[in-house]
Amino acid sequence: MALTGVEIFKLLPKTNCKKCGFPTCLAFAMKLAQRQASLDLCPDVSSEARQRLSEASAPPVRPILFGTGDRAVRMGEETVLFRHEKRFVNPTVFALEIKDTLADSEIRDRAADVMGSEIERVGQRLRIDAIALVNDSGTIETFESAASILASHAPSIPIILCTRSPEAARGVLPFYAEKKPILYGMDASNADAMADVAKQFRVTLGIAAKGLDELVHLSEKAKQHGIEDIVIDSGARSAREILEHNTVIRRAAVKKSFRPLGYPIITFAQREDSLAEALIAALGVMKYSSIVVVRSIEKWKCLALFTLRQNMFTDPQVPMQVEQKIYRIGEPTPASPLFITTNFSLTYFIVSGEIENSKTPGYLAVMDCEGLSVLTAWAAGKFTAAKIAQFIRESGAEQLVQHRELIIPGYVAVLSGAIEDKLEGWKVTVGPREANGINAFMKARRQESSHAA
Ligand code: SF4
Repeated sequence: MALTGVEIFKLLPKTNCKKCGFPTCLAFAMKLAQRQASLDLCPDVSSEARQRLSEASAPPVRPILFGTGDRAVRMGEETVLFRHEKRFVNPTVFALEIKDTLADSEIRDRAADVMGSEIERVGQRLRIDAIALVNDSGTIETFESAASILASHAPSIPIILCTRSPEAARGVLPFYAEKKPILYGMDASNADAMADVAKQFRVTLGIAAKGLDELVHLSEKAKQHGIEDIVIDSGARSAREILEHNTVIRRAAVKKSFRPLGYPIITFAQREDSLAEALIAALGVMKYSSIVVVRSIEKWKCLALFTLRQNMFTDPQVPMQVEQKIYRIGEPTPASPLFITTNFSLTYFIVSGEIENSKTPGYLAVMDCEGLSVLTAWAAGKFTAAKIAQFIRESGAEQLVQHRELIIPGYVAVLSGAIEDKLEGWKVTVGPREANGINAFMKARRQESSHAA
Protein backbone atom coordinates (compact mmCIF):
# COMPACT_ATOMS: atom_id res chain seq x y z
CA MET A 1 0.00 0.00 0.00
CA ALA A 2 1.13 3.59 -0.57
CA LEU A 3 2.51 5.54 2.34
CA THR A 4 0.81 8.64 3.69
CA GLY A 5 2.58 12.00 3.72
CA VAL A 6 3.38 11.66 7.42
CA GLU A 7 4.75 8.13 6.94
CA ILE A 8 6.96 9.39 4.13
CA PHE A 9 8.09 12.32 6.28
CA LYS A 10 9.35 9.92 8.95
CA LEU A 11 11.69 8.36 6.37
CA LEU A 12 13.17 11.65 5.15
CA PRO A 13 16.32 13.25 6.71
CA LYS A 14 14.22 15.97 8.43
CA THR A 15 16.90 18.64 8.07
CA ASN A 16 14.70 21.04 6.10
CA CYS A 17 17.73 21.87 3.96
CA LYS A 18 15.53 22.92 0.97
CA LYS A 19 17.79 21.23 -1.61
CA CYS A 20 14.71 19.52 -3.05
CA GLY A 21 13.14 22.88 -3.81
CA PHE A 22 10.53 22.60 -1.05
CA PRO A 23 10.68 24.67 2.14
CA THR A 24 10.51 21.68 4.50
CA CYS A 25 10.85 17.91 4.45
CA LEU A 26 7.16 17.72 5.39
CA ALA A 27 6.11 19.80 2.38
CA PHE A 28 8.20 17.52 0.14
CA ALA A 29 6.68 14.43 1.80
CA MET A 30 3.17 15.70 1.07
CA LYS A 31 4.03 16.23 -2.59
CA LEU A 32 5.55 12.76 -2.79
CA ALA A 33 2.39 11.26 -1.31
CA GLN A 34 0.35 13.02 -4.00
CA ARG A 35 2.79 11.77 -6.67
CA GLN A 36 3.55 15.35 -7.63
CA ALA A 37 7.29 15.21 -6.93
CA SER A 38 10.13 12.82 -7.58
CA LEU A 39 12.17 11.28 -4.79
CA ASP A 40 15.30 12.04 -6.83
CA LEU A 41 14.97 15.66 -5.76
CA CYS A 42 16.24 14.82 -2.27
CA PRO A 43 19.96 14.01 -2.46
CA ASP A 44 20.28 13.06 1.22
CA VAL A 45 17.73 10.28 1.61
CA SER A 46 19.24 7.01 2.90
CA SER A 47 19.35 3.94 0.69
CA GLU A 48 16.96 1.98 2.97
CA ALA A 49 14.50 4.82 2.99
CA ARG A 50 14.92 5.21 -0.76
CA GLN A 51 13.84 1.64 -1.36
CA ARG A 52 10.69 2.01 0.71
CA LEU A 53 9.92 5.41 -0.70
CA SER A 54 10.53 4.34 -4.29
CA GLU A 55 7.80 1.78 -3.88
CA ALA A 56 5.51 4.31 -2.29
CA SER A 57 6.10 6.96 -4.94
CA ALA A 58 5.88 4.55 -7.90
CA PRO A 59 2.92 5.08 -10.23
CA PRO A 60 -0.10 2.99 -9.19
CA VAL A 61 0.00 1.10 -12.50
CA ARG A 62 3.49 -0.31 -13.02
CA PRO A 63 5.34 1.03 -16.08
CA ILE A 64 6.42 -1.74 -18.43
CA LEU A 65 8.38 -1.57 -21.66
CA PHE A 66 7.13 -4.03 -24.27
CA GLY A 67 9.40 -4.82 -27.24
CA THR A 68 12.66 -3.18 -28.22
CA GLY A 69 13.93 -0.60 -30.69
CA ASP A 70 11.74 1.86 -32.58
CA ARG A 71 8.61 -0.26 -32.22
CA ALA A 72 8.88 -0.70 -28.45
CA VAL A 73 5.82 0.53 -26.58
CA ARG A 74 5.35 1.66 -23.00
CA MET A 75 2.44 0.51 -20.91
CA GLY A 76 1.09 1.42 -17.48
CA GLU A 77 2.13 4.56 -15.54
CA GLU A 78 -1.51 5.60 -15.31
CA THR A 79 -2.45 7.72 -12.32
CA VAL A 80 -6.09 8.69 -12.82
CA LEU A 81 -9.49 7.15 -13.41
CA PHE A 82 -10.73 9.83 -15.75
CA ARG A 83 -8.94 11.57 -18.56
CA HIS A 84 -10.07 15.05 -17.53
CA GLU A 85 -8.43 14.65 -14.07
CA LYS A 86 -4.97 14.79 -15.62
CA ARG A 87 -4.40 12.67 -18.71
CA PHE A 88 -4.04 9.05 -19.70
CA VAL A 89 -0.36 8.33 -20.24
CA ASN A 90 0.47 5.32 -22.42
CA PRO A 91 -1.84 4.53 -25.33
CA THR A 92 -3.48 1.12 -25.59
CA VAL A 93 -1.39 -1.39 -27.54
CA PHE A 94 -3.27 -3.16 -30.34
CA ALA A 95 -2.13 -6.72 -31.04
CA LEU A 96 -3.23 -8.96 -33.90
CA GLU A 97 -3.90 -12.57 -32.99
CA ILE A 98 -1.99 -15.12 -35.06
CA LYS A 99 -2.73 -18.77 -34.34
CA ASP A 100 0.12 -21.23 -34.73
CA THR A 101 -2.26 -23.55 -36.61
CA LEU A 102 -2.30 -21.23 -39.63
CA ALA A 103 -0.33 -22.16 -42.72
CA ASP A 104 3.17 -20.68 -42.86
CA SER A 105 2.14 -18.38 -45.71
CA GLU A 106 -0.83 -17.08 -43.71
CA ILE A 107 1.39 -16.38 -40.72
CA ARG A 108 3.72 -14.41 -42.98
CA ASP A 109 0.78 -12.56 -44.55
CA ARG A 110 -0.68 -11.57 -41.21
CA ALA A 111 2.72 -10.40 -40.00
CA ALA A 112 2.99 -8.33 -43.20
CA ASP A 113 -0.47 -6.85 -42.47
CA VAL A 114 0.80 -5.68 -39.09
CA MET A 115 3.96 -4.24 -40.65
CA GLY A 116 1.82 -2.38 -43.22
CA SER A 117 -0.84 -1.12 -40.83
CA GLU A 118 0.75 2.26 -40.20
CA ILE A 119 -1.11 5.44 -41.12
CA GLU A 120 -0.48 9.09 -40.37
CA ARG A 121 -3.16 11.13 -38.65
CA VAL A 122 -2.88 14.57 -37.11
CA GLY A 123 0.87 14.39 -37.53
CA GLN A 124 1.22 11.12 -35.61
CA ARG A 125 2.18 7.68 -36.91
CA LEU A 126 -0.45 5.14 -35.83
CA ARG A 127 -0.30 1.39 -36.24
CA ILE A 128 -1.08 -2.07 -34.96
CA ASP A 129 1.69 -2.39 -32.42
CA ALA A 130 2.11 -6.06 -31.68
CA ILE A 131 1.37 -9.67 -32.52
CA ALA A 132 -0.21 -12.19 -30.15
CA LEU A 133 1.01 -15.61 -31.20
CA VAL A 134 -1.43 -18.19 -29.84
CA ASN A 135 -0.43 -21.80 -29.18
CA ASP A 136 -3.76 -22.99 -30.60
CA SER A 137 -2.28 -26.31 -31.71
CA GLY A 138 -1.30 -27.23 -28.18
CA THR A 139 1.94 -28.69 -29.50
CA ILE A 140 5.43 -27.40 -28.84
CA GLU A 141 6.73 -28.05 -32.38
CA THR A 142 3.96 -26.10 -34.12
CA PHE A 143 4.31 -23.21 -31.70
CA GLU A 144 8.07 -23.13 -32.23
CA SER A 145 7.66 -23.24 -35.98
CA ALA A 146 5.25 -20.28 -35.98
CA ALA A 147 7.50 -18.35 -33.57
CA SER A 148 10.51 -18.87 -35.81
CA ILE A 149 8.58 -17.60 -38.86
CA LEU A 150 7.56 -14.45 -37.01
CA ALA A 151 11.04 -13.97 -35.56
CA SER A 152 12.48 -13.93 -39.08
CA HIS A 153 9.66 -12.10 -40.94
CA ALA A 154 8.64 -9.54 -38.35
CA PRO A 155 11.61 -9.33 -35.99
CA SER A 156 10.91 -5.78 -34.88
CA ILE A 157 7.28 -6.29 -33.84
CA PRO A 158 6.69 -6.77 -30.11
CA ILE A 159 5.18 -10.19 -29.46
CA ILE A 160 2.89 -11.79 -26.90
CA LEU A 161 3.53 -15.52 -26.68
CA CYS A 162 0.26 -17.10 -25.54
CA THR A 163 0.49 -20.60 -24.14
CA ARG A 164 -0.47 -22.46 -20.99
CA SER A 165 2.41 -24.87 -21.44
CA PRO A 166 5.68 -24.02 -19.66
CA GLU A 167 7.48 -26.43 -22.01
CA ALA A 168 6.12 -24.65 -25.09
CA ALA A 169 7.12 -21.35 -23.51
CA ARG A 170 10.66 -22.62 -23.03
CA GLY A 171 10.67 -23.71 -26.66
CA VAL A 172 9.78 -20.32 -28.15
CA LEU A 173 11.35 -17.84 -25.76
CA PRO A 174 14.89 -18.31 -27.15
CA PHE A 175 13.60 -16.78 -30.42
CA TYR A 176 12.80 -13.60 -28.50
CA ALA A 177 15.42 -13.67 -25.75
CA GLU A 178 16.47 -10.02 -26.04
CA LYS A 179 13.22 -8.62 -27.45
CA LYS A 180 11.22 -8.02 -24.28
CA PRO A 181 8.23 -10.16 -25.22
CA ILE A 182 5.27 -10.98 -23.00
CA LEU A 183 4.75 -14.58 -21.95
CA TYR A 184 1.00 -14.85 -21.42
CA GLY A 185 -0.58 -17.90 -19.83
CA MET A 186 0.18 -18.18 -16.12
CA ASP A 187 -2.92 -19.74 -14.57
CA ALA A 188 -3.86 -21.62 -11.44
CA SER A 189 -2.65 -24.93 -12.85
CA ASN A 190 0.81 -23.88 -14.02
CA ALA A 191 1.62 -20.86 -11.86
CA ASP A 192 4.94 -21.93 -10.37
CA ALA A 193 6.32 -23.41 -13.57
CA MET A 194 5.33 -20.40 -15.72
CA ALA A 195 6.73 -17.97 -13.19
CA ASP A 196 10.01 -19.92 -13.25
CA VAL A 197 10.14 -19.69 -17.06
CA ALA A 198 9.39 -15.96 -17.02
CA LYS A 199 12.08 -15.43 -14.41
CA GLN A 200 14.63 -17.53 -16.28
CA PHE A 201 14.11 -15.58 -19.52
CA ARG A 202 13.50 -12.26 -17.73
CA VAL A 203 10.29 -11.52 -19.61
CA THR A 204 7.01 -9.88 -18.69
CA LEU A 205 4.52 -12.46 -17.42
CA GLY A 206 0.88 -12.40 -18.47
CA ILE A 207 -1.59 -13.79 -15.94
CA ALA A 208 -4.65 -15.63 -17.27
CA ALA A 209 -7.03 -15.71 -14.31
CA LYS A 210 -10.60 -16.81 -13.86
CA GLY A 211 -12.05 -13.89 -11.98
CA LEU A 212 -10.68 -11.04 -9.90
CA ASP A 213 -9.98 -13.04 -6.74
CA GLU A 214 -7.86 -15.53 -8.62
CA LEU A 215 -6.13 -12.66 -10.41
CA VAL A 216 -5.05 -11.15 -7.09
CA HIS A 217 -3.85 -14.53 -5.87
CA LEU A 218 -1.81 -15.20 -9.03
CA SER A 219 -0.40 -11.69 -9.09
CA GLU A 220 0.85 -12.07 -5.53
CA LYS A 221 2.29 -15.45 -6.40
CA ALA A 222 4.17 -14.06 -9.40
CA LYS A 223 5.55 -11.34 -7.18
CA GLN A 224 6.70 -13.92 -4.64
CA HIS A 225 8.63 -15.58 -7.45
CA GLY A 226 10.43 -12.31 -7.98
CA ILE A 227 8.55 -11.33 -11.16
CA GLU A 228 8.23 -7.54 -11.35
CA ASP A 229 6.80 -7.02 -14.83
CA ILE A 230 3.31 -8.47 -15.08
CA VAL A 231 0.26 -7.92 -17.29
CA ILE A 232 -3.09 -9.06 -15.96
CA ASP A 233 -6.20 -10.65 -17.44
CA SER A 234 -9.12 -11.27 -15.11
CA GLY A 235 -10.73 -13.58 -17.68
CA ALA A 236 -13.36 -10.97 -18.60
CA ARG A 237 -14.59 -11.51 -22.16
CA SER A 238 -18.08 -10.01 -22.40
CA ALA A 239 -18.51 -6.24 -22.66
CA ARG A 240 -20.13 -6.13 -19.24
CA GLU A 241 -17.36 -8.11 -17.55
CA ILE A 242 -14.61 -6.10 -19.22
CA LEU A 243 -16.19 -2.83 -18.11
CA GLU A 244 -16.76 -4.09 -14.59
CA HIS A 245 -13.42 -5.86 -14.04
CA ASN A 246 -11.28 -3.19 -15.66
CA THR A 247 -12.97 -0.50 -13.58
CA VAL A 248 -12.47 -2.47 -10.37
CA ILE A 249 -8.80 -3.05 -11.27
CA ARG A 250 -8.02 0.57 -12.11
CA ARG A 251 -9.95 1.86 -9.12
CA ALA A 252 -8.12 -0.54 -6.76
CA ALA A 253 -4.76 0.48 -8.22
CA VAL A 254 -5.30 4.24 -8.34
CA LYS A 255 -7.57 4.91 -5.39
CA LYS A 256 -6.41 2.20 -2.98
CA SER A 257 -2.84 1.74 -4.23
CA PHE A 258 -3.56 -1.98 -4.23
CA ARG A 259 -0.34 -3.34 -5.71
CA PRO A 260 -1.53 -6.82 -6.78
CA LEU A 261 -3.79 -5.11 -9.34
CA GLY A 262 -1.39 -2.28 -10.19
CA TYR A 263 -0.36 -3.70 -13.57
CA PRO A 264 -1.31 -3.11 -17.22
CA ILE A 265 -4.46 -4.98 -18.26
CA ILE A 266 -4.57 -7.21 -21.32
CA THR A 267 -7.99 -7.65 -22.95
CA PHE A 268 -8.84 -10.34 -25.48
CA ALA A 269 -11.46 -8.81 -27.76
CA GLN A 270 -11.56 -11.48 -30.47
CA ARG A 271 -14.96 -12.03 -32.08
CA GLU A 272 -16.14 -13.73 -35.27
CA ASP A 273 -18.18 -10.61 -35.99
CA SER A 274 -15.65 -7.93 -36.88
CA LEU A 275 -17.93 -5.05 -35.91
CA ALA A 276 -18.58 -6.61 -32.50
CA GLU A 277 -14.83 -7.05 -32.12
CA ALA A 278 -14.25 -3.39 -32.93
CA LEU A 279 -16.79 -2.40 -30.27
CA ILE A 280 -15.18 -4.59 -27.61
CA ALA A 281 -11.76 -3.23 -28.57
CA ALA A 282 -13.12 0.31 -28.30
CA LEU A 283 -14.41 -0.48 -24.83
CA GLY A 284 -10.92 -1.65 -23.88
CA VAL A 285 -9.37 1.58 -25.17
CA MET A 286 -11.83 3.70 -23.21
CA LYS A 287 -11.79 1.62 -20.07
CA TYR A 288 -8.24 0.98 -19.05
CA SER A 289 -6.92 -1.86 -21.22
CA SER A 290 -3.21 -1.46 -21.90
CA ILE A 291 -3.30 -4.19 -24.54
CA VAL A 292 -6.23 -5.20 -26.74
CA VAL A 293 -5.91 -8.35 -28.85
CA VAL A 294 -8.03 -8.53 -32.02
CA ARG A 295 -8.60 -11.17 -34.65
CA SER A 296 -8.69 -8.93 -37.73
CA ILE A 297 -7.33 -5.52 -38.73
CA GLU A 298 -9.41 -4.31 -41.65
CA LYS A 299 -8.62 -0.74 -42.64
CA TRP A 300 -11.97 0.63 -41.41
CA LYS A 301 -11.44 -0.97 -38.04
CA CYS A 302 -7.89 0.31 -37.71
CA LEU A 303 -8.96 3.84 -38.61
CA ALA A 304 -11.79 3.82 -36.06
CA LEU A 305 -9.65 2.34 -33.27
CA PHE A 306 -6.61 4.49 -34.01
CA THR A 307 -8.75 7.63 -33.95
CA LEU A 308 -10.41 6.66 -30.69
CA ARG A 309 -7.07 5.79 -29.08
CA GLN A 310 -5.54 9.02 -30.25
CA ASN A 311 -8.39 11.01 -28.77
CA MET A 312 -8.33 9.15 -25.46
CA PHE A 313 -4.59 9.51 -24.96
CA THR A 314 -4.03 13.12 -25.85
CA ASP A 315 -3.80 15.67 -23.09
CA PRO A 316 -7.22 17.36 -22.91
CA GLN A 317 -5.56 20.56 -21.70
CA VAL A 318 -3.13 20.83 -24.62
CA PRO A 319 -4.52 21.42 -28.11
CA MET A 320 -3.08 19.15 -30.76
CA GLN A 321 -0.79 21.06 -33.05
CA VAL A 322 1.01 20.60 -36.33
CA GLU A 323 4.36 22.08 -37.23
CA GLN A 324 4.50 25.65 -38.50
CA LYS A 325 5.55 25.54 -42.14
CA ILE A 326 4.26 25.65 -45.70
CA TYR A 327 2.74 22.31 -46.66
CA ARG A 328 2.54 21.08 -50.25
CA ILE A 329 -0.88 19.68 -51.13
CA GLY A 330 -0.65 17.51 -54.25
CA GLU A 331 2.07 18.53 -56.72
CA PRO A 332 1.95 22.32 -56.64
CA THR A 333 3.82 24.55 -59.08
CA PRO A 334 4.95 28.18 -58.60
CA ALA A 335 1.59 29.21 -60.07
CA SER A 336 -0.45 27.23 -57.51
CA PRO A 337 -2.60 29.03 -54.93
CA LEU A 338 -1.28 29.79 -51.45
CA PHE A 339 -3.67 29.41 -48.51
CA ILE A 340 -3.02 30.26 -44.89
CA THR A 341 -4.47 28.86 -41.69
CA THR A 342 -3.53 28.19 -38.06
CA ASN A 343 -1.73 25.15 -36.62
CA PHE A 344 -4.66 23.60 -34.72
CA SER A 345 -4.28 20.06 -36.04
CA LEU A 346 -7.97 19.55 -36.77
CA THR A 347 -8.04 22.79 -38.75
CA TYR A 348 -4.96 21.75 -40.69
CA PHE A 349 -6.30 18.32 -41.55
CA ILE A 350 -9.72 19.57 -42.59
CA VAL A 351 -8.33 22.43 -44.71
CA SER A 352 -5.60 20.33 -46.33
CA GLY A 353 -8.14 17.58 -47.05
CA GLU A 354 -10.52 20.04 -48.70
CA ILE A 355 -7.73 21.51 -50.84
CA GLU A 356 -6.85 17.98 -51.89
CA ASN A 357 -10.51 17.25 -52.68
CA SER A 358 -10.70 20.34 -54.85
CA LYS A 359 -8.21 18.63 -57.20
CA THR A 360 -6.18 21.82 -57.37
CA PRO A 361 -2.64 21.41 -56.06
CA GLY A 362 -1.68 24.20 -53.72
CA TYR A 363 0.38 25.41 -50.80
CA LEU A 364 -0.97 25.67 -47.29
CA ALA A 365 0.90 28.02 -44.98
CA VAL A 366 0.30 26.86 -41.42
CA MET A 367 1.10 29.46 -38.81
CA ASP A 368 1.93 28.66 -35.19
CA CYS A 369 -0.96 29.97 -33.10
CA GLU A 370 -0.36 27.63 -30.14
CA GLY A 371 -2.82 25.09 -31.51
CA LEU A 372 -5.80 27.46 -31.63
CA SER A 373 -8.38 27.43 -34.40
CA VAL A 374 -8.70 30.43 -36.73
CA LEU A 375 -11.35 32.45 -34.92
CA THR A 376 -9.99 31.67 -31.46
CA ALA A 377 -6.46 32.58 -32.55
CA TRP A 378 -7.70 35.82 -34.08
CA ALA A 379 -9.66 36.70 -30.91
CA ALA A 380 -6.58 35.88 -28.81
CA GLY A 381 -4.38 38.19 -30.89
CA LYS A 382 -2.28 35.34 -32.29
CA PHE A 383 -3.57 35.47 -35.88
CA THR A 384 -3.26 39.15 -36.62
CA ALA A 385 -2.36 41.05 -39.79
CA ALA A 386 1.09 41.93 -38.47
CA LYS A 387 1.88 38.37 -37.42
CA ILE A 388 0.56 36.90 -40.66
CA ALA A 389 2.62 39.35 -42.70
CA GLN A 390 5.74 38.56 -40.71
CA PHE A 391 5.17 34.82 -41.03
CA ILE A 392 4.66 34.98 -44.80
CA ARG A 393 7.81 37.10 -45.20
CA GLU A 394 9.89 34.67 -43.14
CA SER A 395 8.31 31.43 -44.37
CA GLY A 396 9.99 31.29 -47.75
CA ALA A 397 6.63 31.66 -49.55
CA GLU A 398 8.12 34.19 -51.97
CA GLN A 399 10.53 31.55 -53.24
CA LEU A 400 7.78 28.95 -53.63
CA VAL A 401 5.20 30.93 -55.61
CA GLN A 402 5.70 33.33 -58.49
CA HIS A 403 2.43 35.18 -57.81
CA ARG A 404 1.81 37.33 -54.76
CA GLU A 405 -1.66 36.27 -53.72
CA LEU A 406 -2.55 34.97 -50.25
CA ILE A 407 -5.90 33.29 -49.62
CA ILE A 408 -7.06 33.84 -46.03
CA PRO A 409 -9.93 32.12 -44.18
CA GLY A 410 -13.29 33.87 -44.66
CA TYR A 411 -13.72 34.18 -40.90
CA VAL A 412 -10.89 36.74 -40.79
CA ALA A 413 -11.93 38.70 -43.88
CA VAL A 414 -11.62 41.80 -41.72
CA LEU A 415 -7.82 41.37 -41.80
CA SER A 416 -7.45 41.53 -45.57
CA GLY A 417 -6.73 45.25 -45.90
CA ALA A 418 -4.34 45.35 -42.96
CA ILE A 419 -2.39 42.37 -44.30
CA GLU A 420 -2.02 44.05 -47.70
CA ASP A 421 -0.75 47.18 -45.93
CA LYS A 422 1.87 45.20 -44.06
CA LEU A 423 2.80 42.74 -46.80
CA GLU A 424 3.94 44.97 -49.57
CA GLY A 425 3.28 43.74 -53.11
CA TRP A 426 0.81 41.06 -52.02
CA LYS A 427 -2.86 40.76 -52.80
CA VAL A 428 -5.09 39.19 -50.20
CA THR A 429 -8.09 37.15 -51.32
CA VAL A 430 -10.79 36.18 -48.87
CA GLY A 431 -11.49 32.46 -49.06
CA PRO A 432 -14.56 30.62 -47.78
CA ARG A 433 -15.50 30.78 -44.11
CA GLU A 434 -15.74 27.00 -43.82
CA ALA A 435 -13.20 24.58 -45.27
CA ASN A 436 -15.96 22.65 -47.03
CA GLY A 437 -16.42 25.70 -49.27
CA ILE A 438 -12.90 25.39 -50.72
CA ASN A 439 -13.97 23.04 -53.51
CA ALA A 440 -16.64 25.47 -54.82
CA PHE A 441 -14.26 28.40 -54.27
CA MET A 442 -11.55 26.80 -56.39
CA LYS A 443 -14.04 25.74 -59.04
CA ALA A 444 -15.27 29.33 -59.36
CA ARG A 445 -11.69 30.56 -59.71
CA ARG A 446 -10.97 28.02 -62.41
CA GLN A 447 -14.09 29.10 -64.32
CA GLU A 448 -13.15 32.76 -63.95
CA SER A 449 -9.67 32.22 -65.28
CA SER A 450 -10.94 30.11 -68.21
CA HIS A 451 -13.43 32.87 -69.14
CA ALA A 452 -10.69 35.45 -68.87
CA ALA A 453 -8.51 33.35 -71.20
S1 SF4 B 1 16.24 17.87 0.22
FE1 SF4 B 1 15.64 16.17 1.51
S2 SF4 B 1 16.39 16.73 3.53
FE2 SF4 B 1 16.40 18.59 2.34
S3 SF4 B 1 14.39 19.57 2.72
FE3 SF4 B 1 14.17 18.31 0.91
S4 SF4 B 1 13.43 16.40 1.71
FE4 SF4 B 1 14.29 17.46 3.45
